[in-house]
Amino acid sequence: MIKKALIIGISGQDGSYLAEHLQRHNYKVYGIVRRHSVAENQNFRISSLKNIETYYGDLLDSQSIIDVIKKTKPTEIYNLGAMSQVQVSFNIPKFTIETNGLALVDLLEYFRKNFKDVRFYQASSSEMFGNSVEKNGFQKLTTNMQPVSPYGCAKLLAYNLVNHYRHAYGLFLCNGILFNHESPRRGSNFISTKIIKGAVEIKKGLRNKLEVGNLDSYRDWGHSKDYVSAMRLILNYKIPRNWIVATGKSYSVRDLITYVFKKLDLNFNKHIVVNQKYIRPHELNFLRGDSKETRSKLKWKPSYTFERMIDEMLNHWIENYKS
Ligand code: NDP
Repeated sequence: MIKKALIIGISGQDGSYLAEHLQRHNYKVYGIVRRHSVAENQNFRISSLKNIETYYGDLLDSQSIIDVIKKTKPTEIYNLGAMSQVQVSFNIPKFTIETNGLALVDLLEYFRKNFKDVRFYQASSSEMFGNSVEKNGFQKLTTNMQPVSPYGCAKLLAYNLVNHYRHAYGLFLCNGILFNHESPRRGSNFISTKIIKGAVEIKKGLRNKLEVGNLDSYRDWGHSKDYVSAMRLILNYKIPRNWIVATGKSYSVRDLITYVFKKLDLNFNKHIVVNQKYIRPHELNFLRGDSKETRSKLKWKPSYTFERMIDEMLNHWIENYKS
């Protein structure tokens, strides 16, 4: 039987890589996109993909998603749709909670009543841990979850809902707790791309300063391509459960800037400005995920190092400015 996947958020960084990955594994891929006033923005990450079918829908209009599920009858559903930027969630907390958390209730109720065979992946996030860290310096599945942003709170709501519906009704629902992951397709308002793109612009003489927030926040950064392959493995495991997907290495924003600036032969002190406006009301200081179980049970491991990922992003933006 051919596997059919529906990706909510197919136009995003992960959605676009996941669609490609699933097609390579012979899936029929359907996706949900939102309407944009600039049509090119809606599809630019997936415009080169052949044989995908996209439908308009929105998590805040649950019937629109349910209609697509009824029409396409997917064997697997990946919910990657979200207001995905932590910093922005402080400005639009209610919208963030509704989109990233509450919206799931109608879908889960639909699965419980009408679609018990569903295999459902929820894009959970390391932001749910907040500043909880185990004594050995890692976050794992049993680490306390004490989010420090509306984004983290919303993701934790969705995480708990998924757990509840799995336990109460025996549905195949999984949380993938993914740590930060980047790629050339990462939006330019996220810190990794902002730094890399900004550094290339400085090198080209297009700007002189790059404003950033907390230089000493540490993140466990992987590559989106590696992480979407874990999503497929998660939904194809014998039982539904939660997983940690992480590299197990942590680098600070300062480390990231230092690496990029060295590559471009730029002077850190000359161009970097810390602006309070980019400091979060409640900072998340340190993330490093323990993905040992995911590696052993799912036979998953990241193929990209931090440096190789940054190099790829850097080359992408250098090429972008050439053209
Ligand atoms: P992106 O922001 O690139 O993609 C998010 C996708 O969700 C976009 O396609 C977006 O569409 C869509 N979306 C936003 N709001 C809605 C809505 N109301 N209804 C339907 N779709 C919507 O994020 P990523 O691809 O990087 O991340 C994918 C998922 O993984 C997200 O849920 C994110 O929170 C989560 N995550 C990401 C991590 C990371 O480091 N990248 C880490 C941990 C979790 P549009 O373009 O129209 O806004």
